[in-house]
Amino acid sequence: MQCFPLAHILAVLVLFLSGCVTNPETGRSQLMLVSPGEEASMGLASFTQIKQQEKISTDTVANARVTRVGKRIQQSVGREIPNAQWEFVVFDSPTVNAFALPGGKVGVYTGLLKLAATDDELAIVMGHEIAHVTSRHGAERTSQNYAIAGIGALAAFGMEAKQVDPAKRNMILAAYGIGSQVGFALPYSRLHESEADSIGLRFAAGAGYDPRAGATFWRKMAAQGGQKPPALLSTHPSDADRIRNLEQLAPRYMALYEQSKARYQ
Ligand SMILES: [Zn+2]
Repeated sequence: MQCFPLAHILAVLVLFLSGCVTNPETGRSQLMLVSPGEEASMGLASFTQIKQQEKISTDTVANARVTRVGKRIQQSVGREIPNAQWEFVVFDSPTVNAFALPGGKVGVYTGLLKLAATDDELAIVMGHEIAHVTSRHGAERTSQNYAIAGIGALAAFGMEAKQVDPAKRNMILAAYGIGSQVGFALPYSRLHESEADSIGLRFAAGAGYDPRAGATFWRKMAAQGGQKPPALLSTHPSDADRIRNLEQLAPRYMALYEQSKARYQ
């Protein structure tokens, strides 16, 4: 049996007790046992690894499109990802997927670019993925898993991301919906999905993209379901409730959209 010094046990206890934060957007209380710094360094390290493993697209049109939309969303997100090292990478794969990692790293697969026919739709997806990061959903899910597994906060043991054992790093990757790297990915809960939908629409609208594209994109996405749903759908489940919710949310962001769009014309 492994024994920890009393100070460590106390530190873990304090972190468990004080490990709650409030989501600034929704006021919801979230359990957080992973610090923003740890999360960001895990995101950056993981992204470097993914870029080595996946085929990066050399398609100039696809790259220009993702960079164009990404830069505008980056402006719209602003300081909601502190000290972000923004990077937008296109991966050459028919997989219908996209993801964002803490630290401002965004990956989009060419398979998704085909389905997201307009820049508005692409912005909806990128905004949604980035909203999971600004809401720290992956860190929250990892914290819940730590709590269930009885694992204390990494910080309590003075560990840094590079020293974190790969199983824990995989946990955070899976928590951000990146399954191909670790063999499994966790579907986001309905609560996380609706939070990311709402915040994602705000990011897209603030970048001058039409929030009404949310419902059209997810309706198309939902139609892709069936026996073997696309990767994005397996981690971001969609149903009629979600599409109705997006339709109801869009009018709230129309003024922001019109105002922001004028800046890019
Ligand atoms: Zn999602």
